[in-house]
Amino acid sequence: MENFRPCPSCGAKNGKIRGAKNNFQIRECSKCLTIFTGHLPRLDESENYDSYYTEANLKVPEFIYKRLSDLVESFSSYRQTNRWLDIGFGAGALMQVAAELGWDVYGIEVSKPAVEQAKNLGFKVFHGELHEANYEDGFFDVVTASEILEHLYEPQKLLNEVHRVLRPGGLFWATTPSSRGITPRFLGIDWTVVSPPEHLQIFSKRGVLIMLKNAGFTKIRLQTHGVNPFEIINYFQHYFLLKKENNFDRVITSYQINERLESSSMKKAVKRALNYVLDLAQIGDSIKIYACK
Ligand SMILES: [Zn+2]
Repeated sequence: MENFRPCPSCGAKNGKIRGAKNNFQIRECSKCLTIFTGHLPRLDESENYDSYYTEANLKVPEFIYKRLSDLVESFSSYRQTNRWLDIGFGAGALMQVAAELGWDVYGIEVSKPAVEQAKNLGFKVFHGELHEANYEDGFFDVVTASEILEHLYEPQKLLNEVHRVLRPGGLFWATTPSSRGITPRFLGIDWTVVSPPEHLQIFSKRGVLIMLKNAGFTKIRLQTHGVNPFEIINYFQHYFLLKKENNFDRVITSYQINERLESSSMKKAVKRALNYVLDLAQIGDSIKIYACK
């Protein structure tokens, strides 16, 4: 590939080729182990986020609301301006929960149907990218971005802007898949999460840390958590059966696993213990980011 893309986390230009997927070369940074596409999608290749949300996936399962309200409550000590921004709000569940708990909620989203739905519900939302919204410096107490960073052409640019719009002492919270989790260790780039042009990079913890520091964040805590064992099992079943089509739906099974795990307190304890071990070993499939300005 002529002038290939440097690592989106650390800027190193010595990415090792790991293979190809959906007509994109996949590289792994030799310095920080972030996995990324060798080039950015051209206009005709890029993901269409207007067709991303349909009525079916704009609905959110009940247990997610419960989990979101625990999350929002855990951030109540950050309340000063009382303003909360959710980047890439999608179905709007987090905005809804934050509003119910008294926050003055703002949202950013590139998907038009999702923006229309949120506007109909009365939210202050902006259709486009964060830097286009021109919020004042230090406007927000809390900025959240769940499963967004892996989609971006310029993740560093977004983090710089998040830092600018947060008040001093404000919190940035985000989740993103980990390139060093247990599933990518098993499946490599066959992991369904490595999915250009939807996902353009899968960060390592180290890669995330570099970007947050570059953006100016000082107090940073990163955790890895979660694993979806059915994806690994499904992969090997298909591998041995030599089936061409792998129809595994990552989102559905992860909902099912969570619903099952949250159905009793014993199971909840097992899940907490599992996440604790995954975090200790730093092999959870997802990275949770807590960064203060
Ligand atoms: Zn790197």
